[in-house]
This record gives sequence, C-alpha cells and structure tokens, in this order.
Amino acid sequence: MDPEIDPDEAAGEAVCWIDQLCPECGAMPEGAGAQDPSVPCWRCGTVRAQAAGDGPVGSGDA
Ligand SMILES: [Zn+2]
Repeated sequence: MDPEIDPDEAAGEAVCWIDQLCPECGAMPEGAGAQDPSVPCWRCGTVRAQAAGDGPVGSGDA
C-alpha cells in the first residue's frame, strides 16, 4: 500500500499485528480496539474476539 514501506522489512514485524486486523474488512484496529479484541471494528463493526465459552462478558441471553 505505502510505496515507502519495504515489504521485506515490514514482514518481520507484520506478524505482530497482522492477527489484529479485521477478518472482514482488513482494517487496522484503532484506539481501544487495538488493545481489546472484543471492541467491534471501527469500519464494519465485526467483533474479532470469538466467544470461546469463557468470555469475561456475561451472556445476557434472556
Ligand atoms: Zn472491519
């Protein structure tokens, strides 16, 4: 995307945050979303964190 960024150099660190990218739109999480995967994507609203059964958020299914 940015022609000034060498993909070979960025590849080493890319893996650090590549997993944080939105699986739907590929947006880089910003603000709280960068720290908390339960924060919906600022672009498309997709929540990266999947409820694995032991989520800290109480399930309010009524
Ligand atoms: Zn998204």
